[in-house]
Amino acid sequence: SILHRAVFTTSAARLDQLPAPTTAEVCFVGRSNSGKSSAINALTNQRRLAFSSKTPGRTRLINMFGIPDPVEPGAFLGFLVDLPGYGYASVAQQAREEWADVLGAYLRERSSLAGIVLLIDIRRGVTELDRRLADWVAPTRIPVLALLTKADKLPYGQRVRAAASVKKELADLGALTALPFSATHRIGLEEAGAHIENWISP
Ligand code: GDP
Repeated sequence: SILHRAVFTTSAARLDQLPAPTTAEVCFVGRSNSGKSSAINALTNQRRLAFSSKTPGRTRLINMFGIPDPVEPGAFLGFLVDLPGYGYASVAQQAREEWADVLGAYLRERSSLAGIVLLIDIRRGVTELDRRLADWVAPTRIPVLALLTKADKLPYGQRVRAAASVKKELADLGALTALPFSATHRIGLEEAGAHIENWISP
């Protein structure tokens, strides 16, 4: 997978610090502890590309990973963008609201955004904060891949039911794929990777 070639390129605390939107971007969003960093690391086949929300100091930054262009040295085919998780119990209300503003602005305004990967803990399902995010995304018509993480914790039948219920709850999103996923057990890994690759390099 071309995703395996991903390299860290940029950290930014604010949207105006991001590089100009030139090539396709795929962003990763989800609650803290949803399994977002584990998913990025599994998809890129790297152990510590993305850092867990449990890692102090790294969580408030937007991190970008470039997919190098195999033909043109120094150029990138596209970027994976790790957006800070939401819903931390320990973060003050004002900081949460500020982050919600940044996230909303990014999703509405980032012109290079080709797709959104939404991480949802399969046992937790769609939460109020996920719903709020979906309300920002729906009018943009940007396609969404919902990865139902930690799928290894449920038997097969329940995984399928969980995916169907997420599909139903987020039906207002334009193009939505909901996929049971496990970083540890590699469930849905190839399918998710192919889906994301297709956004970057159709
Ligand atoms: P983040 O905060 O969203 O980046 O979440 P992490 O990737 O750090 O994962 C949060 C917790 O869930 C950690 O304890 C992980 O070990 C666990 N976790 C992540 N992915 C999986 C998975 O596929 N299966 C299982 N069983 N646990 C997982």
